[in-house]
Amino acid sequence: MDRQQEHILQTIQEKDVRYIRLWFTDVIGTLKSVAIAPAELEEAFDEGIGFDGSSIEGLARVVEADMLAYPDASTFQILPGQSSASQVARLFCDISTRDGEPARSDPRSVLRRALARASDMGFTFYTHPEIEFYLFHPTSDPYEEFRPIDRAGYFDHSARSAGLDFRREAVATLEAMNIPVEFSHHEAGPGQNEIDLRFTDALSMADSIMAFRTVIQELALSQGSFASFMPKPLIDHPGSGMHTHMSLFEGDRNVFFDPSGTYFLSTTARRFMAGLLEHANAISAITNQHVNSYKRLWAGDEAPSYICWGHNNRSALVRVPALRAGKARAARIEYRAIDSAANPYLAFAVLLNAGLDGIERELELPDEAIEDVTSLTRNERRALGIGSLPGNLDQALVAMQESELVAQTLGEEAFSYFIRNKESEWTAYRNQVTPFERDRFLPVV
Ligand code: GLU
Ligand code: MG
Ligand code: MG
Repeated sequence: MDRQQEHILQTIQEKDVRYIRLWFTDVIGTLKSVAIAPAELEEAFDEGIGFDGSSIEGLARVVEADMLAYPDASTFQILPGQSSASQVARLFCDISTRDGEPARSDPRSVLRRALARASDMGFTFYTHPEIEFYLFHPTSDPYEEFRPIDRAGYFDHSARSAGLDFRREAVATLEAMNIPVEFSHHEAGPGQNEIDLRFTDALSMADSIMAFRTVIQELALSQGSFASFMPKPLIDHPGSGMHTHMSLFEGDRNVFFDPSGTYFLSTTARRFMAGLLEHANAISAITNQHVNSYKRLWAGDEAPSYICWGHNNRSALVRVPALRAGKARAARIEYRAIDSAANPYLAFAVLLNAGLDGIERELELPDEAIEDVTSLTRNERRALGIGSLPGNLDQALVAMQESELVAQTLGEEAFSYFIRNKESEWTAYRNQVTPFERDRFLPVV
């Protein structure tokens, strides 16, 4: 046991923590949790906690089912909002095989591998997400249209908006869990909210996003509403994106910043962006993993459909936010395709590796898109060299399958599991006959 682990055991005693939740994430991005008694934690640090990996989506094949979860001491957190008689703490875990090898398809380990590559190049990867989600009145009938809890719109501060109280409590809970919030507001859709987290290294951020989703869903339940991160829940209203701002640091220095560069961006940042554009199609199945994700990309206000970059251009896939001179630390780029239902570990890993590939190959950034690219004709876009994101999950999977970069980032096991899982999602979806089709065709053909 190291000093940090000893310190945790001491804190548990002092604060009278009764339950320890060990958290990890499956390949699709579902949070898994096992509770242990505080007395078991010391052994868990030393020897891990055994579980059946083949029962967790994508983690292991049946023949190598036995896995070990090792709590990562740096993620220890007492969960707020519990009564003092039953304090609960949580730790995220790294998953190993019985031979002590990191489980190759543990999403945390996929991201760790990508971060190690960045670190070999001298970089730390920082991210900050803008997480959008809807709050609905609960219903148990999936055929009934979900009803948003309010009718407010973008930045509305309405006393009658239930979202206001919700956001205040959500922010307080997140802050109490050491997840600093930068910004929160009502989004454009009715019942739609956004909470932006303050930038941290990408591994801590992926953990925070997993915790965030749980906090938001639990808080909604406790307030009698229902929170959803579904990318496009309503036909006539915007989808829920998770625009992600990214930068690379060398020590304390933001290497995306150059005081003399266009929009204060360095050559490194431009190459990173070029890498993102180059691999945008291939990483799409990871950043936008559901059949529903493509409804947001193609019919969601302000969600990108085309592969280009722009300065403050909200139709662009990669946006360079305006920066005040001298704010070197804040120099960053924003990837706008990724949605709120992505597995953050896998998504950050492919985004990072796409950008690093641009740096390594010294890719040239195409010209920026000045106009609203959605209003151009197909031919105009072609003339400007602006391609399209995949039109649906099937196209995204085809692009992913051809990608050496995604295969290497995910590793063979996670890659093939992911493709299989998503191909079956696509097949199940394609087999549907929807109310839209019956309504449109039954009476006339
Ligand atoms: N809801 C939009 C999306 O799906 C984003 C709106 C915004 O720019 O914040 O990406
Ligand atoms: Mg937003
Ligand atoms: Mg944004």
